[in-house]
Amino acid sequence: MGGLGGVALLAGLLGGLARAAWSAPALPDPCPTLQAQRAVTLARAGGATPMAPPLAPDVPPPSPADYRHLLKPTPLGWPRLNHWCVWIEPGASEGPAALWDGRWRQAVDGALASWQQNLPITVVADTARAQVQLLRRRPPVQNKRASHGRATLTLVEVRRGEPGQPAGPWQIEPQVTVQLSPGQGLQAMQATALHELGHAFGLWGHSDQPGDALAAIPGSQPVLELSSRDRATLRWLQAQPGLAAPGVATPATVTPAAVNPAAVPPAAGPAPAAPGAN
Ligand SMILES: [Zn+2]
Repeated sequence: MGGLGGVALLAGLLGGLARAAWSAPALPDPCPTLQAQRAVTLARAGGATPMAPPLAPDVPPPSPADYRHLLKPTPLGWPRLNHWCVWIEPGASEGPAALWDGRWRQAVDGALASWQQNLPITVVADTARAQVQLLRRRPPVQNKRASHGRATLTLVEVRRGEPGQPAGPWQIEPQVTVQLSPGQGLQAMQATALHELGHAFGLWGHSDQPGDALAAIPGSQPVLELSSRDRATLRWLQAQPGLAAPGVATPATVTPAAVNPAAVPPAAGPAPAAPGAN
C-alpha cells in the first residue's frame, strides 16, 4: 500500500514537474539574431570633439603556467565573450565532393569539441546568429606567406534580438572569420582548426611552446587537443573584462523609438571600466 501510495505520489510529483516545465518561460536564446550592425567609430557622431581613442588594457605580467603575456588586446579591450555562436560552412552531401567536405567537417568538429569542453559554444545554422564564421577555403597568400588557416577579427557594434521583439542595446562585439583550407590531411586540418579557433575565441597571440595548440611554431606532431597551458590561458582571458564602448554607453545616433530601456539587461557583475576612462 505504502509502495503504491509512493508511486502515486511520485507520479503526482512528476506530473507537477512536467506541468512546471511546460509553463516555464523559454530560456533566452544564447544566439539571438543580428538586427542591426554598424562600424565601430571612436569619434561619435554628434560629438563636437572627437573622443580620445581608448587605451588598451595593460599587457599582463607573465605567468609560468600559461602564455597570457603573449596575448594582444584590442583598443576596446579583450575580444572575449561568455558564449560564442559559430556558423560552419555547409559542404556537399553527395557526389565526389561529399567525401572531402565530410573530412573537413570532421576535422572542424573535432577541434570545436575540444574548445567546447572549456567554453560555452553553440553551433548555429544561420550566419546572422553567429560571431564566428568558419569557411572551407584556403586563405589567400598574405605578405608573401601561404597558410592553411587564418582568423580575421573585426569589432562591430550590433543589436541582437528575436524578430518581432524589441532589439537589444547596441554593444561592441567581436566578429571573426576563419578560413580553413580543405587541402590537408585530417589531423593537420584538425590541428589548424584548433589553432585558428583559439584566435577566434579571443587568444590573439601565440604560445612560445610547441606542445600548445596556439604555438607560434608547430612541433613535429599535430596538436589535436588543448594543452594545460592553452586551457589556463583561456581561463585567464575569460576572467578579464570584455569589449567596452569608448566612453559613451548609448550612442546619440540610436533611433529613440527602437530603444526600450526596460529591455536593456543590467550589467552582469562589476561593470568593466571603459578603456580610456581611467
Ligand atoms: Zn596563429
